[in-house]
Amino acid sequence: MKGFQQARWRTPIIFESGSKGRKGYSFPPLDDSAKSTLREIVNTLPRQLIRERPPDLPELSEVEVVRHFTALSQMNFGIDNGPYPLGSCTMKYNPKTNEALASMDETRWVHPNQPEETMQGTLEIMYKLSSWLAEITGTSKVTLQPAAGAQGELTGALIIRAYHKQNGELTKRNEIIIPDSAHGTNPASATMAGFKVVIVPTDEEGCVDIEALKSATSERTAGLMLTNPNTLGIFEKNITEISKIIHEHGGLLYYDGANLNAVLGKTRPGDMGFDIVHLNLHKTFATPHGGGGPGAGPVGVKEPLVDFLPVPLVEYDGNRYYLNYDVPHSIGKVRAFYGSFGVLVKAFAYILTVGAEGLDKISDMAVLNANYLARKLSKIKGFNLAYAKEKPVKHEFVLSCSRLHSETGVSAKDVAKRLLDYGIHPPTIYFPPVVKEALMFEPTETETIEELDRIIDALTEISKEAYENPEKILTAPHCTSVGRVDEAKASHPRTMCLSWRMYKKKNHVAGGMKPKRR
Ligand SMILES: *Cc1c(COP(=O)(O)O)cnc(C)c1O
Repeated sequence: MKGFQQARWRTPIIFESGSKGRKGYSFPPLDDSAKSTLREIVNTLPRQLIRERPPDLPELSEVEVVRHFTALSQMNFGIDNGPYPLGSCTMKYNPKTNEALASMDETRWVHPNQPEETMQGTLEIMYKLSSWLAEITGTSKVTLQPAAGAQGELTGALIIRAYHKQNGELTKRNEIIIPDSAHGTNPASATMAGFKVVIVPTDEEGCVDIEALKSATSERTAGLMLTNPNTLGIFEKNITEISKIIHEHGGLLYYDGANLNAVLGKTRPGDMGFDIVHLNLHKTFATPHGGGGPGAGPVGVKEPLVDFLPVPLVEYDGNRYYLNYDVPHSIGKVRAFYGSFGVLVKAFAYILTVGAEGLDKISDMAVLNANYLARKLSKIKGFNLAYAKEKPVKHEFVLSCSRLHSETGVSAKDVAKRLLDYGIHPPTIYFPPVVKEALMFEPTETETIEELDRIIDALTEISKEAYENPEKILTAPHCTSVGRVDEAKASHPRTMCLSWRMYKKKNHVAGGMKPKRR
């Protein structure tokens, strides 16, 4: 348990490193024909786009660049450092072989404007991935275009809009119903698509309050957005009834499938009655997220909605793969070209590696890990389970430390900060907002029992500390490269320097690079 200590480097920002004229990479000299080709290209460019001076970039040797970024990476925390039980985020381990496959020349150097016959393999990957995702979700057709879960939601909400418009009902149907435990992106996406959001409360068991849902549903209902299992980690046992209520009133059901970890291979949103589903490949399907790069939020729909999907759809005629732009009621494009292709390759490789049986096992292990952790953590003094006190949870659960807070003054935020000192990434805190002093844990299937025990030991220690020496927690973290940050300051952009240009202005740095020694 002891001994975690993050690196602390006093690394200058990259613009303050290096020296003028230093190079990290050398190109072979241009021969005359290359020079003249280059000149020809430059001559075709509009004059106003041609730079007079080279851009103001740092100039460093290769070793300086490598050391700079290695130092920064050592001051960070990621899934490759330790457990990352960030609820509703599914921070599972990202297999490195998938990274290698996505970095191959064949997958990396395809140009989206290449003729179709030269990118049959690329299209095959997209076609097969979307077919598998349709199978996994119980939908008819999947678009891979959206770049994130939230963009998938917007795509889905725009499809709901287009569907009601097509039926001449859009002016009447302008409400989307969303439970109060939903992810914040749900109401945001519905609002962006032009709908009014109607919130329904959670009942004592942590499920949608059915009576409240009935009274919220009317001929104004365009649809319902639901997460199942919901963000409390509880499966909505009344889902077929919920689906019936919405469908009887002419609404559509949207499934927020950002986290499919508990139901993968067990049940399918399509079978539960949902019409539209989005998935986060950067959660359930093991592609990196957060600082790890772009995500992917594919959207699947049932038959009557296929004609509304974004263009192009990737199709196969039994002989060749092709891009189909002929989608009669398409909502149009939601992203350039065909989606985050590199991410799609990683998810494709992941599904291919684990296979259908593997997918099934993933949800077994994810749910087992969550329940093991939930039972053990809820026995620690000051902590208790917000819902599902007696019943099993699914892939995640919400712990409340409101007792700890009232008895010791230590809040969920303080516990989260202190966990970092134990080499464990904090869970999601203060979410969902229906739980006081919430700590939302999602261990995922990729943690071993030893790592789960480490989380349990750390929280046991923290509870002891809170009752004996709360000061230690209130000032945490102590073992990280950066101590407790001023969160209020972060929300005042004027006090922050967010770019080199801002930094130069604030610190009166003249002109270009100014190597500074520290
Ligand atoms: C993560 C998440 C989202 C949003 O996904 P992004 O890719 O971050 O936009 C939506 N809903 C739920 C339940 C999530 O966990």
